[in-house]
Order: sequence, then structure tokens, then C-alpha cells
Amino acid sequence: MTVLASHPVFATQVSDEIPASVADRLGRPLRDLRLSVIDACNFRCPYCMPADRIADDHGLDAASRLDFDEMETLVRAFVRLGVQKLRLTGGEPLLRKRLPDLVARLMTIPGLDDVALTTNGSLLAGQALALRRAGLQRLTVSLDALDQRIYQQLSGGRGNVGQVLAGIAAAEAAGFVSIKLNCVVQRGINDDQVLPLVKHFRNSGHVLRFIEYMDVGTCNDWSAARVVPSVELRDRIHARWPLRALAPNYRGEVATRYGFDDGAGEIGFVSSMSEPFCGDCHRARVSADGKLYTCLFAGEGADVRAVLADGVDAVVEHVGRLWSNRGDRYSELRGRRPAGKRVEMFLVGG
Ligand code: SAM
Ligand code: SF4
Ligand code: SF4
Repeated sequence: MTVLASHPVFATQVSDEIPASVADRLGRPLRDLRLSVIDACNFRCPYCMPADRIADDHGLDAASRLDFDEMETLVRAFVRLGVQKLRLTGGEPLLRKRLPDLVARLMTIPGLDDVALTTNGSLLAGQALALRRAGLQRLTVSLDALDQRIYQQLSGGRGNVGQVLAGIAAAEAAGFVSIKLNCVVQRGINDDQVLPLVKHFRNSGHVLRFIEYMDVGTCNDWSAARVVPSVELRDRIHARWPLRALAPNYRGEVATRYGFDDGAGEIGFVSSMSEPFCGDCHRARVSADGKLYTCLFAGEGADVRAVLADGVDAVVEHVGRLWSNRGDRYSELRGRRPAGKRVEMFLVGG
């Protein structure tokens, strides 16, 4: 039993195997943290950071971003609150200078079981080995198309699919296995890329995941007509390469898993629009300037940076209270309430 079980904000009973966790108002523990290491990006994907709304030089000045000492304090506190999985994200995290040094520091935190990174892959070829050597365990690479013309359009005219594929190859060579490949599918934009992507990554050992286009933020001109429900994609893929459902790897897993009947590996679907999973949402997000968002669709973040200088105990107290007041379930209530202000995806990293 850990000492924290007696702390007033810790509502979830613990054993030595499962660390204590604070529970929110709906009884959901805090298990995952997504930490944005930078709010800038070298892409302008129209569904996230459209070029006509977000200036080329968008980004906080260096002093407004958490430094590595602050990030380490923050992550130590979140681990004390029950977090086991950390994902580094952005903006584009590989734009953050000395990122492998940060990874190496975070890897020393006891109780952190899993450290992953989400990237657009454009700079991965040059950094994969250093990240692996620093101890990074898992990688997710976003890849919305194989066709260069479509890929370029979906990266706001900035991306090169060959560079991303080279990044994936470098990651394999560096020792990353079972890399996740995220594809946000939009009807009439890249849904014709689904089968080519499946064909390309079958038998690769990597896991392609199709993500429903979400109404995140307020600048992407989201429209429901562009959402392709996962079940439609699954049926399309199944007609070509028969699939069978697989059990989740763990409770609260965001993607629904399917295996190819012929043993060519697995794929996943993230169905936040058609099958909301708020009931199992154990995830907190912290922006590069140290604001906590308890939902991807939150309007405001709560400042955590101000307490970081007071040390881990103070952050545990502060974040524990914020989490225990959480009642978010935006996706379950979608359409039943007027949509208000929503944080932009590039600030909280997906
Ligand atoms: N820049 C990195 C990248 O693109 O992988 C990390 C940050 S990005 C915000 C994280 C993920 O959010 C990406 O996989 C991206 O495709 C996804 N994303 C962005 N906007 C989205 C939207 N409107 N709906 C669904 N997923 C979205
Ligand atoms: Fe940048 Fe990622 Fe957003 Fe694309 S999805 S604009 S790569 S942060
Ligand atoms: Fe979690 Fe909010 Fe998404 Fe629901 S809408 S799954 S609470 S992030």
C-alpha cells in the first residue's frame, strides 16, 4: 500500500501492483498524461492548424514553455497521482530542442511504465536513434495518405510522404517495434487512401489506426459530412481482407482492435464521434505552457505552472483537486449542448 492512499484526494483503493489514483466526479482514475512539449508545428494540417488561420511563425516564446526541470516535476507529480502512461506530443514534438535529453530524464521516474511519442514523422529519420537510445518505448506516426498529392494537401502544403516513410524505416532500424500509424479519415478528401494504406502496412508488424475526424478546436471548419464512421471503414477493409475482432489490450484502450484473418497483423479504429468512450477516459492533457485540460474539448485550461516551483507535493495537491472536480464527457453529450469555446488540438496534442 502506498502512503498516498491516505491523501484526501485519493479515492481509488490501491494495492502494491496498481498505484493509487485520484478519481474524478464520475469515478474515473487518472492514468494517462499527454504532455505537449511545444505548441509550434512545421505542418499546417487543415483539420488541426489551418494555414489561413494560424500564422507561419505561431508559437510561444521559449520562456513561456515549460523547461525540462518543470516537466520532470510535473510528470513526477502525475505519476504520484496514478499516471502510468505518458505520451509526449505537440505541435510537432520533434521541433523541441534536445528532446532526447527530456526523454532520458523522464525515463528515470519510478512508476512510469510507458513513455510514447506522437509525431508527424517529417523529422523522424534524423532523430529516431537518439530517441530510442534515450529510452523512448513507443512511437506513433501520423500518416493520412500515401499519395504525395493528397498528403501534401493534408499537411497544408508542407509534407513529403517519402520523408515520413524514411522516418518510419529509421525508427524500425533503431529498434522501435509495433509502431502505430494514425490516419484521420475525411470523406471525399483521403478516404480513398484507406485501402492503399492497409495494403502497405499489412505484414509490416506496425499497427495502422483510422481515426474519425473530430470537431476539436474552433478553426478547422469541421463538418459532420466529412466524418467517416469506423464501422463503414471496417466493412470496406473486411470485404478485401477479412478481419476479426480482438480483445482490448487493457481497459480504456482508445482504439478498437481487429486482426487480419490471414495473420497479416492488426489494425485499429478510434471512433470518438460514433462511439464515444468518455466513461473510460483516464487522460489528462498539459499544454506546453503548463495548463491542464481535463478534456480534449475543454474551453479553458487550469494553470499548473505556477505551482511547479513549489515542488512535487504541491503539484500533487493542486492537480489532485482539479482532477477530483472533473466531470467532463463532451463526446457523450455532443449535440445535446451548445458547443462553446474549445481548445485547439495543436495546443494539447490529440
Ligand atoms: N504533430 C504531431 C502529429 O501530427 O502526429 C502530434 C500532434 S497532433 C495534434 C496529434 C494527432 O491529432 C495526430 O495524429 C493528428 O492527426 C490528430 N488530429 C489533429 N486534428 C484532428 C482532428 N480534427 N480530428 C482527429 N484527429 C486529429
Ligand atoms: Fe501539426 Fe500534428 Fe496538427 Fe498536423 S496534426 S498541424 S502535424 S500538430
Ligand atoms: Fe475524454 Fe473528453 Fe474525449 Fe470524453 S470527450 S473521451 S472526456 S477527452
